[in-house]
Amino acid sequence: MKLTVLGNNGPYPKAGGACSGYLVESSNTKILLDCGNGILARLQKICNIYDIDAIILSHLHSDHISDIMVLKYAIGINKVRKNLDLSIPLYTATDDQNIINKLNYNEAFKIEPIEDESKIRIKNLDIEFKRMKHPVEAYGIKINDGNKSFVYSGDTSYHDELIEFVKDADFFLCEAGILEKDKTEDSPHLSPKEAGDVAEKANVKRLVLTHFWPEYRLDKIMNEAKETYDGILELSEEMKTYYI
Ligand SMILES: [Zn+2]
Ligand SMILES: [Zn+2]
Repeated sequence: MKLTVLGNNGPYPKAGGACSGYLVESSNTKILLDCGNGILARLQKICNIYDIDAIILSHLHSDHISDIMVLKYAIGINKVRKNLDLSIPLYTATDDQNIINKLNYNEAFKIEPIEDESKIRIKNLDIEFKRMKHPVEAYGIKINDGNKSFVYSGDTSYHDELIEFVKDADFFLCEAGILEKDKTEDSPHLSPKEAGDVAEKANVKRLVLTHFWPEYRLDKIMNEAKETYDGILELSEEMKTYYI
């Protein structure tokens, strides 16, 4: 598998940046995880929109879904103009029906609700979902190609089930949205220190942090995670491809 980080800010981008969006590829399979602001322009630097086999939205916060609202035009209008027979499968949390209704445009998407602990298969990839701890319905996503396992946390605060879900993963893409100094009792994100702690306890082989508050210094994020995690540790870089 390979993973390209299309955007890594949250919940708003730095100048010239983009929010959550990750392209997972394996042989001829392409899956887009989240589609936040700035993602559609970057995705097209790598592949054609119509080559995407499925889109998965971890949750319905705007920094993870903004560009899905314009992607529906690209598909929906071209279905009419180019006579395309295309509805991209869209697996998504469905707690906000208002947003789900807005996704319906010329059947650009085939909407499939995600359920906790459900499993699906997209071509050669097995995918598993786990409910995360966030103010809205949010899921972690595990992808296995029969050889390696990849987990994306989506957005979440610390919880023990996350450790179980990530257990022995080859590659863990984990949000680290808030530094320890800014944490409150009900912060909806993991600190880099907590992300490292989850990865250490879960025996993760490689940890890549993401979802960076645009005003943070990246060395502070790295230093916090190093306190708790001993394995291979990196900060995600935009438009970089990682081999899993
Ligand atoms: Zn977010
Ligand atoms: Zn969120």
